[in-house]
Amino acid sequence: MFIGVATALAGLVGTSIREITDNADALDDKRASHAASGAVQAMLRQQRATLRDNAYWDEAVNHTAGPDAEAWTIETWGVSSLDYPLYDTAFVIDITGRNILAYRNGEAMAVPARRFLGAGLDTLIAAARRSAAAGTDVPVHFLRSSEGVAMVGAAVIQSAETSPAVPVATNPVLVLAKHMTADTLAELSADFNIIGLTLDDAPLPGLLHAVLRGVDGSPTAYFNWPRILPGTRSFIGVKDELRIAASVLCVFLLGIGLSGGWTIRSLKRSEAHARHRATHDSLTGLWNRAGLLENLEQDLLDGRIARTDVRLFLIDLDGFKAVNDAWGHAVGDDLIAAVADRLLAELPEETLVARLGGDEFAVVTSAPAGQPATEFEAAIQSALQRVFYIAERTVEIGGSVGISVSIAGDLGAGELMRRADIALYRAKDMGRGVSVSYEDAFDAEKRQEAMLEAELRAQLEGDGIGVAFQPLINAATGRICGVEALARWPRSGGAAILPDVFIALAERGGLIDTLGMQVLTKALAAARAWPGIGLSVNISPLQLKNPSFVAQVTSITGAAGFDPHLLTLEVTEGVLIAHPEQARRALDGLKSAGIKVSLDDFGCGYASIGALRQFGFDRMKVDRSLIQAVDRDENGGAVLQATIALANALRIPVTAEGIETEEQAMLLRLSGCDELQGYLYGRPVDAATLGGQFFPASAPRKVVRA
Ligand code: C2E
Ligand code: CA
Ligand code: CA
Repeated sequence: MFIGVATALAGLVGTSIREITDNADALDDKRASHAASGAVQAMLRQQRATLRDNAYWDEAVNHTAGPDAEAWTIETWGVSSLDYPLYDTAFVIDITGRNILAYRNGEAMAVPARRFLGAGLDTLIAAARRSAAAGTDVPVHFLRSSEGVAMVGAAVIQSAETSPAVPVATNPVLVLAKHMTADTLAELSADFNIIGLTLDDAPLPGLLHAVLRGVDGSPTAYFNWPRILPGTRSFIGVKDELRIAASVLCVFLLGIGLSGGWTIRSLKRSEAHARHRATHDSLTGLWNRAGLLENLEQDLLDGRIARTDVRLFLIDLDGFKAVNDAWGHAVGDDLIAAVADRLLAELPEETLVARLGGDEFAVVTSAPAGQPATEFEAAIQSALQRVFYIAERTVEIGGSVGISVSIAGDLGAGELMRRADIALYRAKDMGRGVSVSYEDAFDAEKRQEAMLEAELRAQLEGDGIGVAFQPLINAATGRICGVEALARWPRSGGAAILPDVFIALAERGGLIDTLGMQVLTKALAAARAWPGIGLSVNISPLQLKNPSFVAQVTSITGAAGFDPHLLTLEVTEGVLIAHPEQARRALDGLKSAGIKVSLDDFGCGYASIGALRQFGFDRMKVDRSLIQAVDRDENGGAVLQATIALANALRIPVTAEGIETEEQAMLLRLSGCDELQGYLYGRPVDAATLGGQFFPASAPRKVVRA
């Protein structure tokens, strides 16, 4: 707008200058033309006066009619034609046309007036006689003589005191001519301030002119002179300044335009940047969650119109955490970027790929309604399963995929996300590299799980979780040396739920801390009845993440009056890998309180001998699967023996669990296990039953059940 106004103002100033210039020029032209015509009129007037003075003269009447006519006219007019300023040629012509006098520049002429001045002379003389008769002023006009253009006037010679009584019709005529010589022009120029005056046959283009008319009124010749153009001259005088001003204005406007344009561009760019940042993931450049949702809404809208199916694939990398923990976050970031690149490279171009954070990705694809997506699903899995090379490392991961579909846009983005999320949860539960498509049944199961969780919560708040005890046997003596507390859910109605199931449920529902402390409290209370016997209690890896865990354990132990040296907490390796620092802090805290820690389920997960040493475990429990493998697998025995030998070499005592036969017990004893556990020695039973079985002396008198 500013540029528009400035340009309009500049235009206005420009046209004003133009107008002023033109007006000034036109005014001066008018003045000059006026001056020129005034000059001509003055000349004519003067000539008429001269003629009157000379022709209306009684003496002239007498002499021209007398015998000395020739001499007298020569003396009077002929001689003075030499230097008289008002005429240079003089004729006196009688009624018959005879030239009484024909003088030019003071000398007699060889040619008569009629030859010298042409046919125009006749007309002029006729006009002179008419004017004499009518008493009007004498005619003076411009004629072409053989010497050039001349102002010629004619008057009948008559008495100064004219009276109609005196006839003049036959009197001679005095003709005076003044040629428009260079001197005449110069004089005119000077007198009337007209510079560059020239005499020409025609008006010259681009110049001003004044007409010199003949007897019949037609042009005989023209005065031409150049225009002075004062406006243009003034304009030329200030033109450089104006040009500089215009240039400055142009530069100024250009500057404003450029800087305005630049500002707008940079604003637009930073807005685009901000938008990009808000909708994209900085590590991979993929869409982020906000960007995904935005696109998904649009795709679903399009799907409703075009009747297409929109599929959402939620991907969670398998074992990404392990990579991150083992090789650091830089490698983890590189891996995430590599996964993003591969998905972009291997999926069809129109596919939308997003990163939702951490190791979670999402892929959205649209297809004509009813078209299966099995190939697409396989493409995602194969893209993830092939090896990645990151910083000279070979990394294998793979991914779990949850899939949901909106048929012709029948679902909103939120619902589509929810369904894919449930399906992904399933897929992860089923192990690595699995894709699961959402089914309606999932919702029912999820509802059921929610109900079960509510029931568990109620149980914990009410009577609480129950505890069973399984004996631990000293391999050397064959006598009970400890018990393992195992959580039990005493459900009044409905089927029994296994600890594997409800422990996981408690972990997901945030109930594990409460559950764990209830088990510990109850186990400690029961174990007080069995003096000198060790107590093992299972701890979820999630409990170790609780910063007040150690304080809670020591306070409960203290309150129970239990010797902490007899207490062993069993942990699985999960937390050690996921959060080594937190785990170390918790384990060190427990140990300084005198509580022992054993590594549970050794041999079934990722737990390594390295972890055993690094975290200073007091004991290791070989997983039941390793013991069962002895009977099934021909290398089973060797693997089991080697595992125990390694622990022994590190001076870590080993417990074997899940012993069901004497053969197994024998093998494990010989392999170096100092503690044995399994149905062979006793199933998990309630405290009273265990007391009755192993401590009849101290047990309260109660009916002992098998
Ligand atoms: P776990 O710590 O490995 O416990 C041993 C499991 O092996 C128990 O199953 C026990 O009943 C079973 N078992 C012992 N001997 C034999 C045998 O000879 N043959 C067979 N087939 N099984 C045997 P349970 O009680 O079902 O517990 C399952 C898992 O639940 C436990 O595995 C433990 O990881 C978890 N758990 C139990 N109670 C608690 C608890 O209070 N807190 C936590 N965090 N986890 C618990
Ligand atoms: Ca255990
Ligand atoms: Ca176990």
